[in-house]
Amino acid sequence: MVEHPIEVVHYSLELDLVQSPVAAVMPDAPGRIRCACAMTVRAVGSEAVPSACFTLYRLLRVSAASEGADIPVVFRQTLREVDGTPDLHVRAVEVVFASPIAPGQQRTLRLLYEGPLVGYREAMAYVHDSVQRDVALLRPEVLWYPVPGGASGDIVRRAYRTPAFDAVVRLPEGWWVAMAGARRESDATDAPRFRGEDGYGDGLFLVAGRYGERSGDAAVTVHHLPGHSSWADTVVEAAAFTASTLTEWLGPRASRRDPLVLVEIPAHWGSQVARGFILQIRCDDPRSVFANVSHEVSHHWTPGADRNRFCDEGVAHYLQALVEGVRYGDGARWERLRGHRERFLQRPDAAQIPLARAAEYPAQIETVSRHRGPLALAVLHACLGDTGFRDWMRSWIGSESARSGGTVAHFCQYLRAWELCRRGGFDVDRYVREWFEVAGPLALEGGADRPITEAVSACAARYQP
Ligand SMILES: [Zn+2]
Repeated sequence: MVEHPIEVVHYSLELDLVQSPVAAVMPDAPGRIRCACAMTVRAVGSEAVPSACFTLYRLLRVSAASEGADIPVVFRQTLREVDGTPDLHVRAVEVVFASPIAPGQQRTLRLLYEGPLVGYREAMAYVHDSVQRDVALLRPEVLWYPVPGGASGDIVRRAYRTPAFDAVVRLPEGWWVAMAGARRESDATDAPRFRGEDGYGDGLFLVAGRYGERSGDAAVTVHHLPGHSSWADTVVEAAAFTASTLTEWLGPRASRRDPLVLVEIPAHWGSQVARGFILQIRCDDPRSVFANVSHEVSHHWTPGADRNRFCDEGVAHYLQALVEGVRYGDGARWERLRGHRERFLQRPDAAQIPLARAAEYPAQIETVSRHRGPLALAVLHACLGDTGFRDWMRSWIGSESARSGGTVAHFCQYLRAWELCRRGGFDVDRYVREWFEVAGPLALEGGADRPITEAVSACAARYQP
């Protein structure tokens, strides 16, 4: 397959979610999705484009391809291994246009495909997306819609780059459906319609099922699976508490789309967050429910527009620790940070990577950004004090630099430019250098047995006049 440069500027999807005929006796039996996908594709680059490659979930099979509604075009499909991820197989589809598309020109391409969806369990442990008896989940990384380009290692990242789209979803009877980031056009018909704008950046993300609904106030709605309404009450309370605490400290969340929607998914599917939208697994311990919900709600104040792991995870984990401190006492906050430090110190290989380069090391991203990230923020907090830290966070989150990137580079740039740090005599350059650009545990000196409160203040002292 020769890969020619094209981009999809609009998707129009007609989607059927079909339960398995044996769902009544085998609740985990995968159902099917059927999709008619019309894409507006544009030739990018300086040469005419004769064909295009797309990547789809491996079990979805293309049955027809046409330009517009009725000019059949030649297509080939094959299973491919994603390079760099040998266990991950995808369906590679090549379509030959009726005539080459001139540079900058657009064409409408329509693919019909269908198949069962059982997730990427083999390569990404948390992606169990499926259509089952009570619930269906389709995340971008499962590639349930054609992602332009071949089966290269950055396929998941590309799946999260979404252009504008329209979608009509046909469902089993009695189901509710939501698409993250999308505007719902009508609730009245049997087949709900959604519209998503260009550049919201969360990928095409769909969840549907036999949901019940709980809402605490106008700001939070929880959709729960049959029989789980008391869990939903706990979630409403945790989400409302976190949202009001963070609003008081930092102002309204950046991705404001009321209400904040939380949707229960089965335990083996893994929690995840998209703009204005949270997928949450159920658990019975109220304290863990609070921690999990509070973490995902905190993500709505993180500026990680490009899904940068330090900014997304580091900031969300630190905000979560602060909110837990308000709810359960300051000891809870330090307890949470102690856990982050211990996990960080257990992975000496991760300690060898500076935060600024964490994104280059997929295996260590979690350890470096989740466990070192919140500690870096705790030290900044100790240096600036409550008011200074909140002013700084508010100002950073609201800044253009945060909106346009949310990367470590933006974080450092913003910190260096921030007047209050300079006026307070805070040694910004040293802080940035030691925390973000240099590898090693640094202020965690003294090892895991040093009390975390002491380790943080000892480290903070290094950056103060
Ligand atoms: Zn997170």
